[in-house]
Amino acid sequence: MKIDGGCHCGYITYAAEIDPGKVGICHCTDCQTLSGSAFRTLVMVPEESFALLSGEPKVYVKTGESGTKRAQTFCPECGSPIYATGVGDGPKVYNIRLGTVRQRDELPPKIQLWSRSAQHWLPDLDSVPKIETQ
Ligand SMILES: [Zn+2]
Ligand SMILES: [Zn+2]
Repeated sequence: MKIDGGCHCGYITYAAEIDPGKVGICHCTDCQTLSGSAFRTLVMVPEESFALLSGEPKVYVKTGESGTKRAQTFCPECGSPIYATGVGDGPKVYNIRLGTVRQRDELPPKIQLWSRSAQHWLPDLDSVPKIETQ
């Protein structure tokens, strides 16, 4: 499936060819902090299926619990996270941040990673009072 997207301010835009089966949620504590939210949604694509169309993302390299380094990219102007990928040589997979994908409504998650650190209130979310806008 062809997708496209970009950051909030429009500086960064990209296109990609994805497998809708590769959409997931990550509940790890790094994703909670780095996204500023309860969990992260992402779609995994091989690097050759991702094309940056405009802008130059800023890169922050984080070291995970296992010692693995991951490059976290984001817009230097508006701070929107764009994708994360491995550091060093070898074939790379880009984890595109689903909230920046224009077609995200059509891409429900197929797997949840790091469920052991998921926020305990998530299963009850549907019972929390809702307001259609702010
Ligand atoms: Zn931006
Ligand atoms: Zn994570």
